[in-house]
Amino acid sequence: MKQSLMFIPTLRDMPKDAEIASHKILLKGGYMKQHAAGVYTYLPLAYKIIKKIENIVREELNKIGCSELLMPALQSKDLWQESGRWEAYGKELMRLKDRHDREFCLGPTHEEVITAAVRDSLNSYKKLPVALYQIQSKFRDEFRPRFGLMRGREFIMKDLYTFSATNEDLDNWYQAVRGAYINILDRLGLHYRIVGAASGQIGGSSSEEFMVLCDIGEDLIAYSDESDFANNVELCQLEEGAPSPDGKGKIKYAKGIEVGHIFKLGTKYSEPMKLQFVDVDGVKKPVIMGCYGIGISRLIMAILEQHNEDLKVLWPKEVSPFDIHLIPMDKVGTDGFNKALEIYQDLTNKGFDVLLDDRSESAGVKFNDADLIGVKYRVIVGRKINEGIVEVKNIKTNLTEDINVSDLHNYNFE
Ligand code: ATP
Ligand code: MG
Repeated sequence: MKQSLMFIPTLRDMPKDAEIASHKILLKGGYMKQHAAGVYTYLPLAYKIIKKIENIVREELNKIGCSELLMPALQSKDLWQESGRWEAYGKELMRLKDRHDREFCLGPTHEEVITAAVRDSLNSYKKLPVALYQIQSKFRDEFRPRFGLMRGREFIMKDLYTFSATNEDLDNWYQAVRGAYINILDRLGLHYRIVGAASGQIGGSSSEEFMVLCDIGEDLIAYSDESDFANNVELCQLEEGAPSPDGKGKIKYAKGIEVGHIFKLGTKYSEPMKLQFVDVDGVKKPVIMGCYGIGISRLIMAILEQHNEDLKVLWPKEVSPFDIHLIPMDKVGTDGFNKALEIYQDLTNKGFDVLLDDRSESAGVKFNDADLIGVKYRVIVGRKINEGIVEVKNIKTNLTEDINVSDLHNYNFE
């Protein structure tokens, strides 16, 4: 991809309305633009990364037997009255009317829609279990949208719903999804903890949150420095330095960003909305449900919070927007630039995803922008190109090597 064609409108000055690093980077780096409070356009650079995040989520969910669908964002009031949430959801629900004065909302979540979508079909134990997910925009009129994509009013979520005949089957799905989430967050290069969460009447271990550890997080987590033990401080007060309740290690505190939530719903929706099946014993029973969310757009910020240093970005490999950032020092039309074009063609043909900085900008501007784009390897075509040599810089190690152009495609860009 040629950088001049990609539309990456970087800003010269630091955006004033951004308080946290990830928000600053996304605005200054030309990743996104604000449209209204908590509502953003994902520009090509951010959207490319978002699609990579989404595809990792898809791969891991498909692996455990989930199927993807797409439900409407526009949802009828009738359904929300069936579940009792039209009133209960309160002001966070974005409500609207059509030209015939019929009432709708923009979906903040999809339990109602999915339950209605499957209820005529999942009518026998023979048709269970099923696990269905979507990746879609959600709408919540948050009281205080803030930190850019962290708390948006329109944001992208992956939501998964499982339908089981027995509690054991729900337990199995819950564990499988938990495992998939672990794989997803590991592949995203995140440092996180899984914490027991408040789960209303259902109680116990029936709800857990995936918390990315980070100073700007809204939740406070108590965790063991030697084991997996972790809990939201809202739920259990533990003294810092006290022995961990599981007997392993000592308690420490950290702030966390909730990026995922897994939840055993039980029959909370299937009962009022009459999602029933006939069991082996011939008795009609409510289907047992689970729901599992991941904040896709929040994730891009969570990753950035953990993968920048003084606003210099280094995207984890699996979500990096490109494999190589190719930066010619010479302007368009010069021999040096033409050599860079040849290298671009060659590396692209070899299967690398290369971003070529073909803009007529100074070296300073190009490198500043490259710091915001955050591709691990930079190939710099400078003065030594006359001798057939380019510089390869690894921004993780900060090491630069002189490499012969003819050896470039053998270079280990890992
Ligand atoms: P929070 O406590 O942060 O408001 P929640 O409990 O309301 O989150 P869920 O309803 O469980 O969130 O939604 C699933 C996931 O969607 C969350 O784990 C989070 O990553 C993401 N999410 C929720 N609200 C927002 C928002 N306003 N902006 C961006 N992402 C969000
Ligand atoms: Mg919320």
